[in-house]
Amino acid sequence: MTQSPASASPAASSPTGRGPIGTRHLLHQQPAIFEQGTAGRSGASLPPCDVPAVDPAACFGELSRAQPAGLPEVSEVDVTRHFTRLSRWNYAIDIGMYPLGSCTMKYNPKVNERVARMPGFAGLHPAQPLSTLQGALELMYRLEEVLREISGFARVTLQPAAGAHGELCGLMMMRAYHQSQGRHPKKVLIPDSAHGTNPASASLNQFETVAVKTGSDGLLHADAVRAAIAQHPGDIAGIMITNPSTLGLFEEQIAEITQAVHAAGGLVYMDGANFNALLGKVRPGDIGVDCMHFNLHKTFTTPHGGGGPGAGPVGVSARLVPFLPTPTVEKDGDSYRLDWHRPQSIGRMRSFFGNFGMMVRAYTYIREMGGAGLSQATEMAVLNAVYLRARIQDVYPVCSERPSMHEVVVTDKRLKKETGVQTLDVAKRLMDYGFHPPTVYFPLVVPGALMIEPTETESKETLDEFADALLSIAQEAAQNAELVKSAPHGTALRRLDETRAARSPRLRWLPASATPAQKG
Ligand SMILES: *Cc1c(COP(=O)(O)O)cnc(C)c1O
Repeated sequence: MTQSPASASPAASSPTGRGPIGTRHLLHQQPAIFEQGTAGRSGASLPPCDVPAVDPAACFGELSRAQPAGLPEVSEVDVTRHFTRLSRWNYAIDIGMYPLGSCTMKYNPKVNERVARMPGFAGLHPAQPLSTLQGALELMYRLEEVLREISGFARVTLQPAAGAHGELCGLMMMRAYHQSQGRHPKKVLIPDSAHGTNPASASLNQFETVAVKTGSDGLLHADAVRAAIAQHPGDIAGIMITNPSTLGLFEEQIAEITQAVHAAGGLVYMDGANFNALLGKVRPGDIGVDCMHFNLHKTFTTPHGGGGPGAGPVGVSARLVPFLPTPTVEKDGDSYRLDWHRPQSIGRMRSFFGNFGMMVRAYTYIREMGGAGLSQATEMAVLNAVYLRARIQDVYPVCSERPSMHEVVVTDKRLKKETGVQTLDVAKRLMDYGFHPPTVYFPLVVPGALMIEPTETESKETLDEFADALLSIAQEAAQNAELVKSAPHGTALRRLDETRAARSPRLRWLPASATPAQKG
């Protein structure tokens, strides 16, 4: 009996012994680049060497290698196919919706890339004389200006390389401020709904964190903050508060909380990662916030994650200005200079100017949108989240009855009780429908959380497809729970052992001959 080609899996091994013939287009059959090619193969064709060969050991002494580096010996075709195949197994915002809550995975407009690649920006060297860097300094000066306008802060530093780095920078300024007042408070209040980077940044700064419980409505209450302050009299350095919170809710009592913390001598750090819900609506500087980071790679459309480095500018109120990192960019008449002479500065946070290419992209986006455009983006981001919520909440109950801002947190409560299918299964099954899963099991205060942030760049058609997928998965769970529990089915690799992947990741390729110790 002959098997049909569709069901036959090639049994013969390839001559290289790397698995069945004709399956290299499958992810699990794609050898590492080091396992491809053959000795002496090269992707470059250079003319014969017409200068005398040198002995590396004689030139470089002990810096020269004892063994060749073991680089892959492959042709250009090998390399192109290898990396193009890998890229096709990737998921990206340019392929589909990426509703990863808290991460604001919005579309990165191509005009940003075009401007960042202009030779006048891309070809600069950070050590050039300042007189030849005037355009770059002007862009940084203007970006600070627009971020100040958007947020209501006195000044903004562009140096930090990410949101978490901005938190570190902000807390360093807060500590320097307290020290300048002759105070050494040790406690930072952090609500239980906070992003993990908040307590991490606080302890990295030698502060002790005091957890404050959110109310049953999901909001942080001024009473709870006052009670926490009362337990640590004279020892409150400040509070770190995410607004909108990681539950996607606007912290309605922020003004009262800010007053209470200030009255206790503390400062208010606002985690601005969710600023995409506030553009043109709320200026944190106006409500008494002392310090806040922006995530240019979230709110201001610069690439996120594998797509490029981040940028986490930090805005500060007037009393923190003396402590800003050096150098600041200043304008004198028609020219721009760097100010290194800031005696109370916490010092440098980043080499050279920070991630300048990201500043170019963010500035381009802001100028393209304009003030009215940014407000409209926020309105659409919130509308999209509210629409999704309305479409799915009968099946996936929301974590709070309060109105959602730019993201909605729902739970697997009902699904789990009725079908045994849980959040992780839903996330995996969504991949079969062609969507990147949302953030799962975060925030920790919501059991079985699915945190969905559609962003303003998704159309109603895409939102409907996503909602339909979630509802369809719930139906599948009721009819055939196993189908959902064993998902994904349509991906190159099936369900992974997530614990092992997190606890003992293999991050480095080693030859088969490596010793167990080398393999770790
Ligand atoms: C993303 C995020 C951060 C950290 O920002 P990075 O740029 O990833 O370092 C902090 N807080 C919240 C609420 C976030 O969503």
